[in-house]
Amino acid sequence: MIEKQYAVIGLGRFGSSLSRELVKLGYEVLGIDINEERVHEMSQVLTHTVVADCTEEEVLRSLGIRNFDCVVVAIGNDMQASILTAIVLKDAGVTKVVAKALSELHGKVLQKIGVDRVIYPERDMGIRVAHQLVSPNLLDYIELSDDYTIAELSVPQKMCGNTLHDMNPRAKYGCSVVAIIKKSGVIVAPSATDMLEMDDLMVVIGKNDGIEKFEDDLE
Ligand code: ATP
Ligand code: ATP
Ligand code: CA
Repeated sequence: MIEKQYAVIGLGRFGSSLSRELVKLGYEVLGIDINEERVHEMSQVLTHTVVADCTEEEVLRSLGIRNFDCVVVAIGNDMQASILTAIVLKDAGVTKVVAKALSELHGKVLQKIGVDRVIYPERDMGIRVAHQLVSPNLLDYIELSDDYTIAELSVPQKMCGNTLHDMNPRAKYGCSVVAIIKKSGVIVAPSATDMLEMDDLMVVIGKNDGIEKFEDDLE
């Protein structure tokens, strides 16, 4: 596998967390910020760091930005800087540009410029936390489409000792348990006789309304 080269522009809370994690995952990361202090804070963590204004085409070109496999624009509050940076990156021919948007309109502009992936961290985290607050047993989820979801559910004490046959999720909620995560290991594609124990997690796939009903009955 060829190691990917990442560049992260804007080392605020989001950009620094993202770039830190990429380094942890074993990738090389160039971090750029206009703010010297921010760059200084990250200089020991990232592979390379540069103080630069990324709205300036020449600056990005001189850094050889075109050669990076993926460049993340993590500038948020300064919408103008975010948009200008994204244009410069796409003009320079960067293959994959990911940019953080603060609002729907900001995101729309980024998309029109040709940004390959627009992310809305605050909006999406808000939605996620709301779901988790409403359903205490819902630990995490992935929306497969508007109708279908994969959810990770914790097993409440009252369900411990029950088998999947006892709970009957397929018949009751139209949901299949894809895996049971136990302290001792993971049961993939569990069968009717597999039993739920204390601290187990279930990975469940199904229609949204079925999963919601399942969650409600776990409470
Ligand atoms: P976060 O929401 O991630 O915590 P923040 O709110 O601290 O970020 P933002 O305004 O979103 O700050 O900007 C993130 C970073 O982007 C800041 O560190 C800022 O200095 C940097 N930045 C802003 N404009 C530019 C630019 N033109 N070139 C390079 N970096 C920039
Ligand atoms: P089905 O066609 O629904 O699998 P079945 O009687 O052939 O019915 P069994 O494997 O005997 O299936 O399981 C009986 C019941 O146990 C199922 O109807 C279902 O509700 C539940 N069950 C078994 N395995 C799972 C699973 N992995 N996920 C969800 N429910 C399951
Ligand atoms: Ca912010």
